[in-house]
Order: sequence, then C-alpha cells, then structure tokens
Amino acid sequence: MASQEIETLTAALSRLPGLGPRSARRAVLWLIKRRDAALPQLLDALGAVHERLLECTTCGNVDTADPCGICTDPRRDQRALCVVEDVADLWALDRARLFTGRYHVLGGRLSALDGVRPEDLAIAPLLARVEQGGIDEVVLAMNATLEGQTTAHYIAERLEGMPLRVTQLAHGLPVGGELDYLDEGTLAQALRARRPMG
Ligand SMILES: [Zn+2]
Repeated sequence: MASQEIETLTAALSRLPGLGPRSARRAVLWLIKRRDAALPQLLDALGAVHERLLECTTCGNVDTADPCGICTDPRRDQRALCVVEDVADLWALDRARLFTGRYHVLGGRLSALDGVRPEDLAIAPLLARVEQGGIDEVVLAMNATLEGQTTAHYIAERLEGMPLRVTQLAHGLPVGGELDYLDEGTLAQALRARRPMG
C-alpha cells in the first residue's frame, strides 16, 4: 500500500488528459526519485500558473493580463478573427505567427453525444464581437472532426447576412483531425488555402 500522500497525488495526476492511473503512478515515482532536482521547479511553475494566469474576457485565451497580449497587440490585424475550439488550437496556430489577426476561443465543440449545446460555448460573445463591427473576415478553424464541422456550420449559419467573409481552414480529413496535432507546415497550408464556408 502506498502512503496517503502518494495516493492523493496519483489520483490528482490521473485526472489530467492523456494520463491514466498507470502513467500517473509512473510520474509520481519519477518525481519522488527526483524530489530535490525536479519538484521545486514544478512547484514554482504550478504556483505561478495558479497565481498569475487569467482567462481573457474578450477572446478566451489564457494569459497574465486581461485583455490578453494578443487582443491588445496593435501590430495584429484587427479585421480578421480566427475562431478555434480550444486554447490549445490557438497556441498551435499562433506558435509560428501563422495567423496575424486575433482569436476567439469557443471552449469546446457542439456535441449531441456529450450534451454540449450552443449556449455552452462562447458563441453569443462571438456574435457580439462581430456585431460591434470592424471585422472583415471570420476564419472558422474548427477541427476536421464531425463535431468540429457541425460547430463550424452552426456558426457560419449564425453569421449569415453579416457584412463579412466567413472562411474555413482547408484541411481535409487528416487522421483524427485535431488541429494541435498538425505540424506548422500543414497548418500554414490549411490557413493559406482557406476557402469560403460552403
Ligand atoms: Zn484575448
């Protein structure tokens, strides 16, 4: 039987995406063995995230300021808005400055299976941002999954009749279709070849 401390940490880590109980146990053992070398660094990093990170109330990005660095960057194209499912997708697109406009994070995708409805996502705030005007193009950068595409079509419908272009990434149907698994070259290509939403 492991100690209560180990059990508690293992349980906490096993809730992380991609980590099951088995990987969590291995991570805990790794940390224990490197208690002095690795733990202080990890504690500092976790503490800093806990204390300083905020969700941008404009776009949903995570940063140390609200509005975030992207929303307030004057060098960015204010007329282009890229809509993504999650912050991880924003990071993937922004890693190499592939997109020079600003973003809007939905916080997920529509899913009948998981009971995710339009009102569960940041769709109303998106429409409010667009209605304020000044935006010429909305790029729908949803994942190439069934749910991602359903979400893109729903949003395109809601934007219909507004004086702007609605485009979507030209990625076909790569395996899984998750944006943040695509390499920068593929993402850049998908962005360059973006096409009007049909
Ligand atoms: Zn922001």
